[in-house]
Amino acid sequence: MDENVTVINHPLIAHKLTLMRRKNSSTQKFRSLLREVAHLLTYEITRDLELTTELIETPLQEMDAPTLAGKKLCFVSILRAGNGLLEGMVELMPSARVGHIGMFRDPDSLQAVEYYCKVPQDIGERRVIVVDPMLATGNSAIAAITHLKKQGAQNMKFLCLLAAPEGVKALREAHPDVPVFTAAIDDRLDEHGYIRPGLGDAGDRMYGTK
Ligand code: URA
Repeated sequence: MDENVTVINHPLIAHKLTLMRRKNSSTQKFRSLLREVAHLLTYEITRDLELTTELIETPLQEMDAPTLAGKKLCFVSILRAGNGLLEGMVELMPSARVGHIGMFRDPDSLQAVEYYCKVPQDIGERRVIVVDPMLATGNSAIAAITHLKKQGAQNMKFLCLLAAPEGVKALREAHPDVPVFTAAIDDRLDEHGYIRPGLGDAGDRMYGTK
């Protein structure tokens, strides 16, 4: 795997992901686990944010204290499942701007069809993290990133929870400038475009729609 694909290895993430995969985990449990994992993934994906210092006063004295610098963040959620990851990320970075791209997967062609897009006007000046829990065929992620580039986004990362090798390969080929971060890469895609062993349909599991 190339250096721009990072599997975020952490025992807590691995454990929580296993709980999410279990078919008997309830909607409530799935949702709260996704939120917790989103916190942990955000912690890792923001590791390279630049710091500057700011002169502050503690109750005892002045000090030059570290504070985030540089380009501001924008999280872009690929609807609808992206919102589950997004919520946890925004909790950790409440001042981040948020964009949404609505994509659905044509069940026959498995191609991504866009139906909605709203992103900050200054997206070109921000570090953008595009999120979708499942990187399956890669079609939605590729289409979303292509669209965001047309809107001016220049500095993007893609974050997911689970990836199929096929999706990682397709996304890396289509957008080699966009590093991919995931908690795990599973075995394969099945003929319906599901990740195996996977966790099923992330949106359905998160919202209890099946
Ligand atoms: N989307 C999902 O929610 N699950 C998969 O396995 C693949 C795509």
